[in-house]
Amino acid sequence: MKEEILQNLHSEHQGITSCINKGSRNVYWPNFCEDVKNFVNSCSICQHHQRANVKETLLPYKVPSLPWEEVSIDFMYLQKTDYLLCTDYHSKYIEIKKLTLNTAEPVISALKQIFRTHGIPRRLHSDNGPPFDSKQFVNFTKTYDSEHVTTSPKYPKSNEMV
Ligand SMILES: [Zn+2]
Repeated sequence: MKEEILQNLHSEHQGITSCINKGSRNVYWPNFCEDVKNFVNSCSICQHHQRANVKETLLPYKVPSLPWEEVSIDFMYLQKTDYLLCTDYHSKYIEIKKLTLNTAEPVISALKQIFRTHGIPRRLHSDNGPPFDSKQFVNFTKTYDSEHVTTSPKYPKSNEMV
């Protein structure tokens, strides 16, 4: 029943220590810890989200006084589909647009739709990974006169809001 138990311990994609703690209350077999470690390390879902699991200090952000003054964007991946996630710092309102590709053009087109509905934010936060670092995207934020504030994709939590 090892495989079934390991799946059960990792059903919510907790880390190795958490799975071992949870399991060692109820089960034991030789090399249990090693088996948990290997199971968690080979979980494809955890690997996909590894970037998001990097722990670091949260940067406090100032809540802007107006809605849609500052918004934050990032990608979300669900059931083989990419989405653009857009969050307002003031109200925490969320807009989600389905993407065919997460390259500059479809992302800009999705943002234009969102901006047509809610207006152009004064500041637009994103990480500085592709396509947000592309010339096309930089030109887009310039044309729309929205200050593009970027954070390192290695420290995605600094783009805390989204
Ligand atoms: Zn997992």
